[in-house]
Amino acid sequence: SDIGSQKERVVTEEEWLQKWEMGNIGFHKEQGHPFLQKYLDVLLNGRSGLRIFFPLCGKAVEMKWLADMGHSVVGVEVSEQAVKEFFSEHNLPYCEEPVPEISGAKMFQSTSGNISLYCCSIYDLSSSIVGKFDGVWDRGALVAVNPCDRQRYASLMISLLEKNSSYLLVTVSYDPNKHKGPPFYVPESEIKSLFG
Ligand code: SAH
Repeated sequence: SDIGSQKERVVTEEEWLQKWEMGNIGFHKEQGHPFLQKYLDVLLNGRSGLRIFFPLCGKAVEMKWLADMGHSVVGVEVSEQAVKEFFSEHNLPYCEEPVPEISGAKMFQSTSGNISLYCCSIYDLSSSIVGKFDGVWDRGALVAVNPCDRQRYASLMISLLEKNSSYLLVTVSYDPNKHKGPPFYVPESEIKSLFG
């Protein structure tokens, strides 16, 4: 569990935008994640009409899936290309508007109103802007955050949670000396200390 070799690694926002431009998006899956289906009951906990947050959302197809089940989905993603591809690939009409509290940020919302994607850095968000959430689907998010930003990310995520919320987190386990990431290896002990 020596993450020494990944600790200093930084992927800039510019590099993420380039990945989208070049189509280097091996992380994107056309099929919904099997773990979301498997643990859906844990996420929902018998509740309906939840507000569900997708940090670092990309164009995750699960957003459409949960919205179709009657939940309201909010995502955040730095790449405007990713956000636009999400709506166009699902044939969803949307409108776009500036976010007054965040300079340069835009919010893209499905015309039906149940999917809102913020195009900005997640670190620009706060509960006063996006509200709080009943559920979180964190796949390719904590593991994509630069190791030096994990504490900040986790604190922000905790501040966005309602009292009775569920947080599904997907991580990857491998020898961090063999791959530079992302996805980064986040040891279970670190997850415990980040989220308590
Ligand atoms: N969760 C998605 C995408 C994972 S890849 C999925 O499951 O497919 C990580 C995504 O985070 C990329 O699309 C990248 O553009 C975005 N990203 C990276 N840093 C970000 C930041 N600080 N704020 C918002 N999005 C970010």
